[in-house]
Amino acid sequence: MTEPQPYADRRRTPHIVFLASSGMGHLNPFLRLAAQLSARDCRVSLLTTHPTVSAAEERHVDAFFAAFPGVRRLDIHVPLLDPSELNCADPFFLRFESIRRSAHLLPRVLADASPPVSAAIVDISVASSYLPAVAEMGIPSYILFISCAAMLALCAYFPTYLATKNTSGVGDIDIPGVWTVPKSSVPVVLHDQNQLFAKQFLENGQALPKANGILVNTLHAWEPEALAALNEGKVTPDMPPVLAIGPLLPVPAMSVEGESVSAPFAWLDRQPDRSVVYVGFGNRTGMQAEQIRELGIGLERSGLRFLWVVKSKVVDRAEVEVGLEELLGEEYLAKIKDRGMVVKDWVEQAEILRHRAVGGFLSHCGWNSVVEAALYGVRILGWPMGGDQRVSAEALARGGLGIWVEGWSWQAEEEAEKKLVKGEEISERLKDLMAAEGLRASATTMAAAAADVGGTSYQVLTHFIESLTL
Ligand code: UDP
Ligand code: UDP
Repeated sequence: MTEPQPYADRRRTPHIVFLASSGMGHLNPFLRLAAQLSARDCRVSLLTTHPTVSAAEERHVDAFFAAFPGVRRLDIHVPLLDPSELNCADPFFLRFESIRRSAHLLPRVLADASPPVSAAIVDISVASSYLPAVAEMGIPSYILFISCAAMLALCAYFPTYLATKNTSGVGDIDIPGVWTVPKSSVPVVLHDQNQLFAKQFLENGQALPKANGILVNTLHAWEPEALAALNEGKVTPDMPPVLAIGPLLPVPAMSVEGESVSAPFAWLDRQPDRSVVYVGFGNRTGMQAEQIRELGIGLERSGLRFLWVVKSKVVDRAEVEVGLEELLGEEYLAKIKDRGMVVKDWVEQAEILRHRAVGGFLSHCGWNSVVEAALYGVRILGWPMGGDQRVSAEALARGGLGIWVEGWSWQAEEEAEKKLVKGEEISERLKDLMAAEGLRASATTMAAAAADVGGTSYQVLTHFIESLTL
């Protein structure tokens, strides 16, 4: 048994427990904030759930604890749910659900944590089930919102929208004080209220006022309207304080080894400054084979140098089922080999975006990807594929971080009607992106300044840490 810690010590050094969820887009910001707070003299514990959906999550959790032996590792095991029973085929949404159903395990985990817990930081996807469990223990709770402030505004406003709308289904959503999210940009999974994710999203939106605060990986300079509207109570009157703590910095000490991880860097080292387009669609967006081929044509036609991460499956463990040769053909791979590198494996994306040779990013607009690109001054051509990505694409364009193409098809279209985005079109847009030098400078400067010691986000985090020691 550990001796109870004197109250004074508990006040001086806050003990923050991170309650993470599933998917690298959720895990990365948790690891980044945990690393930062640990480096700033907080005691940190990190709860992760097992089994993980992807192999990438497992590797990164292990690499994190190896790099930060001072962070206490807490694990819980969650049951696998039956997709047919929940009428949900998405493995990540199913895992959210099983984590949500594990809230009864929290009191034991939190009571055993030593020294006593000062605050819990909870992932948005499990908020409505975890926040009450944390509150019952008398522990303050904060949400780490892993998307942009505009998406947080949509999450906060959605319950009101559903209760007051006078159309059937979901239409354009005019978020007070923010902007109107057109129906075509509302996440497809929210169009049908019987979908598992739509129910989770609604409940999590309703639960936001239960948190003591919400931390968002963004900057005032990028999203002034959304942050102001949220904090002024325009979106919903009972919002807790929303703190812009971005850009969360990638964890430098953490390395995930492997040949596939190092190969792109050897190639990038041989390319001229700012000449390469990096093409990547996050950790859970598989592209149809036909669209992959068309994208290949576009990259080839553009005449640009490129580093392309091909992903054809939602879960990385299934990627072995189909090889690059099968998807693109040996002839194609031979043709582009002098100025293109194609991989079909995990890459250390933030490191790639930081590399001097990378000058543009064709991205699905996952918010972590957007923040990483902005941090390293890489301009973005947004091709949102699903989920929150059209909202994020609009936020990045408004924030001056890049451009996006509204007409390119995404998850909304029925598979049968889905229009292929043609190679020629992709090629033209990429050339425009690489020619638009001006998009770069302001985004980098703002991001670097905010994250710097003494910068705006750094200060917000300092006040947050201090508030836990009062
Ligand atoms: N990522 C990476 N290597 C990959 C794919 C993804 O490092 O091969 C990282 C990426 O840098 C980001 C996260 O995984 O931090 C993906 O989150 P994002 O919000 O960009 O998109 P999501 O995958 O959630 O759609
Ligand atoms: N999100 C939310 N409420 C929820 C679950 C998710 O607002 O109940 C947000 C979250 O910030 C995320 C986005 O909706 O960025 C899309 O969720 P998803 O988990 O699909 O993100 P991904 O796995 O693609 O990162």
